[in-house]
Amino acid sequence: MAEFSLIAWLKDNASDAPHVSLGIGDDGCCLHFKHDTIWSMDTMVAGVHFLPNADPQALGHKALAVSVSDCVAMGSIPQSVLLSLTIPSYDDSWLKAYFSGFFAYANKYAISLVGGDLSQGPCSMTTTVQGELVSSQPWCRSAAKAGDDIWVTGHIGLAASAVAGLDHVRAKSALHYPEPPVELVKLLSGFIHAAIDISDGFAQDLGHILRASCVGARIKIDCLPWDDNVTYPQKEKRHWQLFGGDDYQICFTAPQSYHDQIVEQSRRVGQKVACVGRCQSEMGLVYMDDEGDQIQMQGHAWEHFT
Ligand code: ADP
Ligand code: MG
Repeated sequence: MAEFSLIAWLKDNASDAPHVSLGIGDDGCCLHFKHDTIWSMDTMVAGVHFLPNADPQALGHKALAVSVSDCVAMGSIPQSVLLSLTIPSYDDSWLKAYFSGFFAYANKYAISLVGGDLSQGPCSMTTTVQGELVSSQPWCRSAAKAGDDIWVTGHIGLAASAVAGLDHVRAKSALHYPEPPVELVKLLSGFIHAAIDISDGFAQDLGHILRASCVGARIKIDCLPWDDNVTYPQKEKRHWQLFGGDDYQICFTAPQSYHDQIVEQSRRVGQKVACVGRCQSEMGLVYMDDEGDQIQMQGHAWEHFT
C-alpha cells in the first residue's frame, strides 16, 4: 500500500452511518446531527505513551479507546472519529496490524472513521472522537454534590501493575486493550451528577471532580475494584490503584438514592461498578481502610511538563 491506496482502503473499510453525509475522500467530511454532540481529542506519542516497538494492533485499539473514554465520561455515545497518524516509514504489515486493531474496536461500537491525516515523522497518533449526548446535559466535573456516592467502573490499577512489570495476561490486556464502559452511558444517563475518565490515576482524576465541585470525599480504599485472578503485593496494589492511571474507566458521582438502580442497570450489561466512597462538604480527600481507620497515602500521578 502507498499513501493514496491506503486512503482508498480506509474509505472502503470505514463503516457508513446515517449521520455521515460525506466521509473519507474529500478535503473534509460532512456530518449531520440531530442532538447535541461531544468532541474530544487525544494524542499518543512514541516514547511518551508507548514504546516505539509496541504491538501495532494494540496501538490501533488504544488510540481510539482513549478518546472514546473521554466521550463516555461526558455522557455521550461515540459515533465518529478523525485519525491523524504519523509514522517513521511506510510499513505495510505495521499498518495492516494497526488498522485491524483500530477497526475491530471501531466496529464493535459502530464508530465511523470519517477522515484524518497521514504524515511521516516520529510515531504519534491523534484521534478526535464525536459522540452523541444521551441526556439533556453533559456530565461535568463540577456537578458533584456533598452526600453523593462515588463510583468507579471496571477494575482500577491493573494497567499500572503491567507498566510496573506485573506479568499477568489480564493486567497486560488492561494496559494495551482498555475498554471504557460505552454500554453504561445510556443506562446510567438519568443517575449521574459528575463524571471523569480515569487516565492519570484515580486520586488525581477524582481530585479534578472535587475541586471543580467544591466538595471533599472519603474513599474506602479497599473497595477500589481489582481483578481477583491477578495476585499482587498489597502495598503496591493500593499505589497502582490510586496513582497509576491508564485505566480508561469512569469515576462518577450520583445521589445515594440511585444506588440500587445503578447496580441493577450495570448488571444488565455485565459491567462491573463499585461504590468506593462518598462526597462531603468538608474539603480534602480522605482514605479509610476496611476497619474505618484513616490512612495516609502519598504518591504522584502522571503530569506532562514536570
Ligand atoms: P489533503 O492533502 O487535502 O489534506 P489527504 O490526502 O491528507 O488530503 O486526505 C485525503 C482524504 O483521506 C481526506 O478525506 C482525509 O480525511 C482522508 N484521510 C487521510 N488520512 C487519513 C487517516 N489516517 N484516516 C482516515 N482518513 C484519512
Ligand atoms: Mg485537501
